[in-house]
Order: sequence, then C-alpha cells, then structure tokens
Amino acid sequence: MVDYALQRRALLVDVHAGRTPLAGVQDADPYLLRAARFHGEPVDRTCPLCRKERLTHVSWVFGEGLRQISGSARNPDELEQLAALHREFTVHVVEVCRTCRWNHLVRSYVLGTGRTSRRRTVGE
Ligand SMILES: [Zn+2]
Repeated sequence: MVDYALQRRALLVDVHAGRTPLAGVQDADPYLLRAARFHGEPVDRTCPLCRKERLTHVSWVFGEGLRQISGSARNPDELEQLAALHREFTVHVVEVCRTCRWNHLVRSYVLGTGRTSRRRTVGE
C-alpha cells in the first residue's frame, strides 16, 4: 500500500502559504463529483481547505483484467465483489470535498484473489 499523506501535507502547506493557487487544488471535475455522490464513502475528516464539509473517499479501480470496468469508481461492496472475481487490480482512493472541490489522492493498494491467497498463506 502506498500512502500519500506526506505529499498531501506538503501540498496543503504550500496552499496555506499562498505558493499554490486554490484553483489548482479545488479542481474536482463533474465526473469526480458525481462519483463522490454515487459511489463515495463519507469519512470522519473535515475538508482541509473550506473546513465546512466532511470529505468523501472515492475508490477508483484500475487493471487489465477488469476490462471495461477499469477506470471507474466503485463502492466498498463492489470492491469486495471485484476482489473475489479478479486476480489482481489496483485501487486508488481519492478524497473529495463536494463543497469546494478539493481533491487529492489518499492511497493506493492492490486487491484481488491473487493477493488474498498469498496473504492467507503468510498468515497460516
Ligand atoms: Zn472543501
């Protein structure tokens, strides 16, 4: 799993210092906002920019084996189903503020049957 917390913090420092324009980080496009609305999970974290709204996490899936699904947003239930059906795919979690359109990659990780069985073997 790759965690992007450091990049996020560095970016926010730049924004608050005025080195990075707000327009450059409050740029969630309609597609992402729509994904946040329909597939997102509200998280217990307030938007670091407008501090008005709780953030929503959107999980995007990518992988050759996913075919036409690759590049789409999925909710946690769908992620579980995909993980049981496909050998390996990558999930990118993006946090979105639906009020000011702040968005940032939070983390990425790999899911799939290939990973699960490997993990089980290690645990046994
Ligand atoms: Zn916001």
